[in-house]
Amino acid sequence: MSEQQGFMKALKCRECGREYPLEATHVCEFDFGPLEVAYDYAKIKKSLTREAIASRPKTMWRYRELLPIAGEPTVGPLVGFTPLVKADRLAKKLGIRELWIKNDAVNYPTLSFKDRVVSVALSRAKELGFTTVACASTGNLANSVAANAASAGLKSYVFIPSDLEQGKIVNSLVYGANVITIKGHYDEVNRLCAEIAGKFGWAFVNVNMRPYYAEGSKSMAYEIIEQLGWRIPDHTIVPMASGSLLTKIQKGYQEFTKLGLISESKYSIHGAQATGCSPISVAQKAGLDFFKPVKPDTIAKSLAIGTPADGFYALKAMKETNAHADDITDDEIRDAIKLLAETEGIFAETAGGVTVGVAKKLIASGKIPANDSAVLCITGNGLKTLDAVTGHVGQPREIKPSLREFEALVANEEKVNA
Ligand SMILES: *Cc1c(COP(=O)(O)O)cnc(C)c1O
Ligand SMILES: [Zn+2]
Repeated sequence: MSEQQGFMKALKCRECGREYPLEATHVCEFDFGPLEVAYDYAKIKKSLTREAIASRPKTMWRYRELLPIAGEPTVGPLVGFTPLVKADRLAKKLGIRELWIKNDAVNYPTLSFKDRVVSVALSRAKELGFTTVACASTGNLANSVAANAASAGLKSYVFIPSDLEQGKIVNSLVYGANVITIKGHYDEVNRLCAEIAGKFGWAFVNVNMRPYYAEGSKSMAYEIIEQLGWRIPDHTIVPMASGSLLTKIQKGYQEFTKLGLISESKYSIHGAQATGCSPISVAQKAGLDFFKPVKPDTIAKSLAIGTPADGFYALKAMKETNAHADDITDDEIRDAIKLLAETEGIFAETAGGVTVGVAKKLIASGKIPANDSAVLCITGNGLKTLDAVTGHVGQPREIKPSLREFEALVANEEKVNA
């Protein structure tokens, strides 16, 4: 155990268990299995108590023993601890007893859950001596890398598909990042980035830094548990792109249980996708352990990964927790965005629509029983995907600056509604 490791032990292959040093590397040389951070849980148990957590600032770093950096966080120290909102009006519409929204649409600083993974990846990248950081992104990751790199004084390159929403592109450019658009789908962007990462000595947050990056997602699970009063909800509904977030919610729940911070309980972690890019949910519904890659075609661009890197493990996590997956159409996504906004006053991006719409389906079919408790993971902000709902939310009504005209408008409305 050294100062270079903190509470980490090694990187460990998920397939064969071989251990690797804690460097910027992500695949096993023997079987190409993904590497994951292994921790010294005996050491963590001594310092991570409920009292210790409660005494710390309200950010995701209050669980820092379980996050893979050696020292103190140097990038994104204020990220996380987003609101957990009791959603009674939406619960009534969906027909479930107890419903909560974990609202990462207001995560700091770039309004998506990606700020969690990026603050971990960039803090670790600095520890490993990198000065240039990069990513392959469906939008939100690029925004977060660009912003967090700017505030940390790091140089950044972000690679995105050319057809992303204008809001996502501007939200990367404004920070002065090098934004490279690729004529192709995310999977092609990702393949190119793997080649670039091998050639340039950069920290690609979701390529060579992926083992550290992915661990940041666990903080969402820890916060849900603490904010619910130290319990795991019966059901957690999670949007899936690569499938990583879903697997890390499970790991977070397992770790808090193993550390004795909560008692054993039964829970299901369900996955949500858009029908236009649903390799994982299609496989889950067919009872398969493996997915078939697809070509994405959906307004939920942040989830549009046709070859999900963690799809296999997401299917496994759903199987282990007796969970389900489902997918909804673009029209259903827009309806669900509106339903969340009109009932709870929360404007989510397309991925949030996917989560709400799939929850609605799972509750209606009885796969999530009406008498249980559920948390919906809302992972991104609607202000970044205005294109998706523009023209579907009605029009403002224009009048001259005249009281008479306004009275006429109201009278007409009363007639229509009578
Ligand atoms: C990246 C992202 C996800 C999930 O990503 P995974 O690759 O499955 O971890 C969910 N919602 C939004 C808005 C995202 O940007
Ligand atoms: Zn291996």
